[in-house]
Amino acid sequence: MLWILASLFFCYCAFREIRASLVAPPGYDLPQPIAKPYLVLVVSLALLCAWPPVHTWRFQRFLSAKATQLADGHRAQVHCNTLFDTMLDPAMLAAGHADPRTGRIVLQKPWCGVLMDYLSHPERADRNELESLDMFTHESMHVRGELNEAVTECQAVQRDYRAAKLLGVPDAIAKRNALNYYTVFYQERGKIGGLQSAYYSEQCAPGKGLDEHLSDSTWSTP
Ligand SMILES: [Zn+2]
Repeated sequence: MLWILASLFFCYCAFREIRASLVAPPGYDLPQPIAKPYLVLVVSLALLCAWPPVHTWRFQRFLSAKATQLADGHRAQVHCNTLFDTMLDPAMLAAGHADPRTGRIVLQKPWCGVLMDYLSHPERADRNELESLDMFTHESMHVRGELNEAVTECQAVQRDYRAAKLLGVPDAIAKRNALNYYTVFYQERGKIGGLQSAYYSEQCAPGKGLDEHLSDSTWSTP
């Protein structure tokens, strides 16, 4: 929001400068010549300030399309919360949340940025970045219709490989990242217990109760 206001301010400065070259400004008899360096400066600043919101808007549209695919056609709409949005969000303590009725997925600050970082260098993804991928898949599974957290998370870990590929990660790296999340971080949940255990099930394993036998499952062998 602040970026948009700043951009609009610089647009106004540019407009005022151009108007002064066409219509005599107050106190002058004739229109004034354009101060080109000034005009270049304010137009550049307007574009520079407009870039972050445009970049986020494009990323949200990209994520919305991919989440819709993951949710088997249930329409998803991803929103990346700013710090301000996060502070006003009643569910601010959840890193992400989704409403299956509306398809709205909210990723709190800074998780969209973490996911962007992951996509810029998936070959050296760290723990946070892998969690951002899984969070995106997890919320997409809520939009697909599942509400039970342990089942949702199991649907997500089976699809993290698919999700990474949909987001543009090369096949072999997507497989390695998704398996890494499942074999290390997912399994840790079961051991930690407490709140984490609500997102874990022993039945979430190849051949067990929650295995959906997807042909491109994270754990399927080619
Ligand atoms: Zn959930």
